[in-house]
Amino acid sequence: MIKLAILGGEKAINAPLKRYNPIGAEELLAASEVIRSGNLSQFVGGWCDDFYGGPKVREFEEKAAEYFGVNSAISVNSWTSGLIAAVGAVGIEPGDEVIVPTWTMCASATAILHWNAIPVFADIDPDTFNISTESILKCLSQYTKAIMAVDIFGQSCDIDKIMQIAKLHNLKVITDAAQSPSAIYGHTKTGTRSDIGGYSLNYHKHIHTGEGGILVTNSDEYCQRLQLIRNHAEAVVKDLPNVNLANLVGYNFRMGEIEAAIGIEQLKKLDSLVAGRQKAAEVLTDFLGGLEGIKTPYISGASSHVYYVYPMLLDIDSLGVSRAVIVKALEAEGLRGLAPGYANIHLLPMYQNKIAYGSNGFPWSSDICKRNVSYQKGICPVAESFHDKFFLGFEMCMYQLDEACILQVCNAFEKIWQNLSLLREYSNDD
Ligand SMILES: *Cc1c(COP(=O)(O)O)cnc(C)c1O
Repeated sequence: MIKLAILGGEKAINAPLKRYNPIGAEELLAASEVIRSGNLSQFVGGWCDDFYGGPKVREFEEKAAEYFGVNSAISVNSWTSGLIAAVGAVGIEPGDEVIVPTWTMCASATAILHWNAIPVFADIDPDTFNISTESILKCLSQYTKAIMAVDIFGQSCDIDKIMQIAKLHNLKVITDAAQSPSAIYGHTKTGTRSDIGGYSLNYHKHIHTGEGGILVTNSDEYCQRLQLIRNHAEAVVKDLPNVNLANLVGYNFRMGEIEAAIGIEQLKKLDSLVAGRQKAAEVLTDFLGGLEGIKTPYISGASSHVYYVYPMLLDIDSLGVSRAVIVKALEAEGLRGLAPGYANIHLLPMYQNKIAYGSNGFPWSSDICKRNVSYQKGICPVAESFHDKFFLGFEMCMYQLDEACILQVCNAFEKIWQNLSLLREYSNDD
């Protein structure tokens, strides 16, 4: 038997995995042309043609609307900005409750708090890791005004069911599809079936512009409100007829021309970049599916998965080795990008202590918060137990995984799984 690296043997992965880099000659050329033009941004925060930005920003938005199959795409300087703009645009009021999964990146929830609304955390579906529709029903109250659905790891949430619930209870739906651009649900792209959706263009994601984000909507009203919030709304609304002033406090969420030019090139590559990652994930699934005690990603019938993260569940009790020891052994084999556990946003100190704005617990302590929303450990048992014990993610999007690489990753797992009995002893000694 080959000796485990953790016990002094050779590593299964002998060269570090290559960092993923989707930026190439096309982006270099596009960015240089913008720099040569001297026009790095053309936004004006006043009511004129350039209120909507320069030529690259507009071209990027047109191309994105076409790619995602929506009426409008609105670029922003980050997806966190995009989420804030979305919550404002759908008209969330102070004290309104918005249901959001706890298993997500923190910004999905802080965008809600930003408008002095109250995040209510829903648990996740144990197969897809996406927001559980059963849990949404339990989170509903007379104060619920919206659902922030998240397409986690690269697969759409159960958006049709969520839209049905929303229709029944008169709720708005925003989709945070930061991790899943180009993933399919039914015949549409993820992020496009709700009131507002969108994607991150941060450098950790499938395609990027360094920092950036893109909002999508089929509503002309929301499109206008998003454009206003992006660009100092309060300064220009006086020039607009019949405008609903609620939440038109504006910011500078504008994207620069260089980022937009890069975004245009990145969008062209998105399908092929994702196809490469899907191929690597299939090899992993074929291999890991044959090992005892690993549950490989579940893909629901209507969906494709774009594997921002490759999610696994370990049957820790039957394996008899803790997740920490498995991770330590895999890391010793040279594997990086392992995520033992994921977010439980409700357990962050801000929610545990209910201190957000100022030091007196605003908004929870104020009159606008109409009931005591619980963030106690125990409200999201699936997400909590996955985080504490069973979940193991492989952050695929961090690496350029060609065939040789992915086989090495498989070898690392195989070595560990062939030596589980040794690791059981190792755990006992540890
Ligand atoms: C990355 C990410 C964000 C934030 O996007 P930024 O562009 O980094 O601001 C929000 N939600 C989810 C689920 C993410 O993965």
